[in-house]
Amino acid sequence: MRTRRSLIDLDDLSADEIEAIFEETRAFEAHAPGRLLDGVDAVNLFFEQSTRTFTSFNLAQMRLGANVVNLSPKDLSLATKGETVEDTMLTLSAMGIGVIVIRHPEAGFPARMAAAFDGHVINAGDGSHAHPTQALLDLFTLRDEFGSLEGRTIAIVGDVAHSRVAHSTVLGLARLGARTLLVGPECFLSTEDAIADATIVRDLDSALEQSDAVILLRIQRERFAKMPIDDREYVERYQLNGRRLARLHPQAIVMHPGPYNRGMELDDTVLEFAGWRYARQVHHGVYIRMAVLDLLVNGTRARVR
Ligand code: ASP
Repeated sequence: MRTRRSLIDLDDLSADEIEAIFEETRAFEAHAPGRLLDGVDAVNLFFEQSTRTFTSFNLAQMRLGANVVNLSPKDLSLATKGETVEDTMLTLSAMGIGVIVIRHPEAGFPARMAAAFDGHVINAGDGSHAHPTQALLDLFTLRDEFGSLEGRTIAIVGDVAHSRVAHSTVLGLARLGARTLLVGPECFLSTEDAIADATIVRDLDSALEQSDAVILLRIQRERFAKMPIDDREYVERYQLNGRRLARLHPQAIVMHPGPYNRGMELDDTVLEFAGWRYARQVHHGVYIRMAVLDLLVNGTRARVR
């Protein structure tokens, strides 16, 4: 019954639409666009914890004039009263809800919702599968830094296997012409985890020497029962620290989707590094989400004013 555009992963967007989102992000950053979602009712449904994504979707919706309902999973009949996803979607459609932003531990859950909902579903992270708005804000941050990504090398370091951010961002990097290195131990990056045209590199030091940007990942401990590698060994082989920062090109940048774990994937020297772009990513996240909401709800009618 799905009749409206949803965003489940980055491949739901054409190359032109990604460019339009970036242009609009830039325009929204410069000037508040006003109530482009006036009269639109939005529900945010987060079954997993979130600080950045939850807050920035709320801000984006409010800045565009939408009516926002934050539904806590424990209050849902879906969770406790045996209602199916399909019936919950029918219920929200009947109330006139136009947009649902969903985060869920199960890969594929947002796609199931989109199939049953007469409105727009935005995936705010589903299991290890996808996190398209994080990928868009990461790509936007890279473009903001380098202009074109053609010929640039981006290293994604850490628990690639369980990272929905890595899965979505790799798709985007390939489309924007970057060369992607995936860096991590076998247990977090087997040869089967190779995504798109990315190259697997086991040695972080050698990856750093080749990279224009490094995207660090948190170990997704909530997605497996037992840590498959000793913490000390992980830190020794894959932590970005002062000694390793010295291997980067002088203009290279370091990014992280957050939350970052000090003492694991990075140490405090990274947070002082001139090329540390975490705060820029978070800042861009609000405007990217405004642009995504506008594109899905209003279509291409309102390309950059
Ligand atoms: N915040 C990102 C996510 O929800 C990354 C992370 O949690 O490590 O996937």
